[in-house]
Amino acid sequence: MDSLDRLKDLLRQPRKVVLTSHRNPDGDAIGSMLSLYHLMYQLGHQLHMIVPSAFPEFLDWMPAAEQILIYDEAPEQCPPIVQDAEIIFYLDFNDLERIDKIGELCHATQAFKVMIDHHLLPQQGIADYMLSNSTASSTCELVWDFIGLMGWQAQVNCTVAECIFTGLLTDTGGFKYGTSPKVYRLAALLIEQGVDDVVLQDRLFNSMSEKQLRLLGHALAHRMEILDEYHTGIITLTKKDYERFEISRGDTEGIVNYLLKLRNVKLAAFIHEQPTITKISLRSKGDLSVQEIAQKYFKGGGHKNASGGYSYIGLGPTVRKFKSVLPKIRDQLNKVAQIPDPCRGKGEGKPPTSE
Ligand code: 5GP
Ligand code: MN
Repeated sequence: MDSLDRLKDLLRQPRKVVLTSHRNPDGDAIGSMLSLYHLMYQLGHQLHMIVPSAFPEFLDWMPAAEQILIYDEAPEQCPPIVQDAEIIFYLDFNDLERIDKIGELCHATQAFKVMIDHHLLPQQGIADYMLSNSTASSTCELVWDFIGLMGWQAQVNCTVAECIFTGLLTDTGGFKYGTSPKVYRLAALLIEQGVDDVVLQDRLFNSMSEKQLRLLGHALAHRMEILDEYHTGIITLTKKDYERFEISRGDTEGIVNYLLKLRNVKLAAFIHEQPTITKISLRSKGDLSVQEIAQKYFKGGGHKNASGGYSYIGLGPTVRKFKSVLPKIRDQLNKVAQIPDPCRGKGEGKPPTSE
């Protein structure tokens, strides 16, 4: 019996299921957990959701978000739940390191492990069934595929659809990157399930606090450096900035993307000091892989065009380390600086004549 059949077999009766996702959960992490939560609840399973750290306030409205256990805030509550699980879902991450202590807890159990994820280079040997595809826009897109494989289509109500749509929207930046014909078809299907996409986009993308918008203004006006020669932009935030702006969870979300709004910038770095580590968020355009940079120099990883990592050397040295990488990838930077045409080479044909 293959592992999907074993999973189907297990799920024929009510099971104790734990859904878990990565540190600093984003819309795709929370959306993939909640979509499976609302779906599997209808099938009679006993469900728990656990993440290592708090998620941003703009996701608080999501149905059943208040049920999500945050390990950092309730470390004593989580171990018995994980130890009791019969099935554990690893959602939107590719390495047990991404869920910190929960990873050790999960690894120690005999539970059947399911990984659904779209990051590059998934850790091998940690899941019994793995649905991993780095060409997918989001884990939520793969949750949709998983629903099809499990034959759960009848349980996709508007709440489930809304949660899947959330991951689709947040991981594509509102259909700005990582899209495909499949993404748009799936979006259409979810709208047919009743999701109001305009309301959803408004909730997800127009939900900044005044403090956040002022912080963004500060970052752009005073903490941005543009290295034109390398088509690169850097934004840094110091511990003092964190104190002055009282920065908390999610406040810096999306800042890095503003650098890519510059015509000449193809590589963007947001480098900021946290209590013990210096965190780096990287974004790129086209074929330039920030996954390789994050993995090679900053103990991290992620996707080709969106990755992250960290260091213990402090802000200044981390910025210098990042800058020292640029001459090594100069040719790639120059290559992506040549903007391709939007017809992907399929647009050459004779224009229609007026007859
Ligand atoms: P962000 O820059 O928004 O924090 O993360 C962008 C992407 O990089 C996400 O897909 C995330 O999973 C990945 N990522 C961020 N930080 C790390 C890290 O420290 N290690 C690894 N392996 N991936 C990371
Ligand atoms: Mn994701």
